Amino acid sequence: MRWPLAALPPVCLLVEGGAVNSGEQLCLACGLCCDGTLFDLVKLEPGDDAAKLKALGLPVVISRGKTPVARFPQPCSALCADRTCRLYAARPWQCRTFECKLFKDAKAGRVTFAAALTLVKQARRRADQVRRLLRALGDADEHRALGERCHRTSERLESGHADEAAKSTFADLSTALHRLKLLLHGRFYTRNETGSK
Ligand code: SF4
Ligand code: SF4
Repeated sequence: MRWPLAALPPVCLLVEGGAVNSGEQLCLACGLCCDGTLFDLVKLEPGDDAAKLKALGLPVVISRGKTPVARFPQPCSALCADRTCRLYAARPWQCRTFECKLFKDAKAGRVTFAAALTLVKQARRRADQVRRLLRALGDADEHRALGERCHRTSERLESGHADEAAKSTFADLSTALHRLKLLLHGRFYTRNETGSK
């Protein structure tokens, strides 16, 4: 199953001293737009310096074809364990400007930051459950985006022999993935943006 295709990543924040505001707290508790849960990749924009980002450690690749597109995969290699961005000052345009629906809703007062935080925690729990089930099915490739891993595991199990235990775990995975996607589409995606930030 593929995530919807669009390209954007996140508002990961590197807090350089000073008070952390509610929006920053929300993103620091989240990171779903950088960790491969919401997006498979981030596309660079014309103003981004691909060579510099590459030199800073982002694995930027440029697609072949009539209109080459520079992009880097998710989970992002610049995402730190504490959900800050190692490249915050130099992050690409998409990362500077992206705000998920939940962030926008909280900023506009349509939902309280406390309620938004609860939804973030719920989404992270659901994503963790999907990752646990993927590992149980033999996919421990944590460096790949969640959508890509689910798609690959689904193809593998549907094309080969799976025993009853694997079939049962795969059914649990399908349910867990469905629950996660319901939440992501309902509260996080702002448009048809799946695949890329
Ligand atoms: S998904 Fe939304 S709340 Fe989470 S880090 Fe990105 S912008 Fe912030
Ligand atoms: S560069 Fe920073 S903000 Fe952009 S995807 Fe990576 S961790 Fe997130």
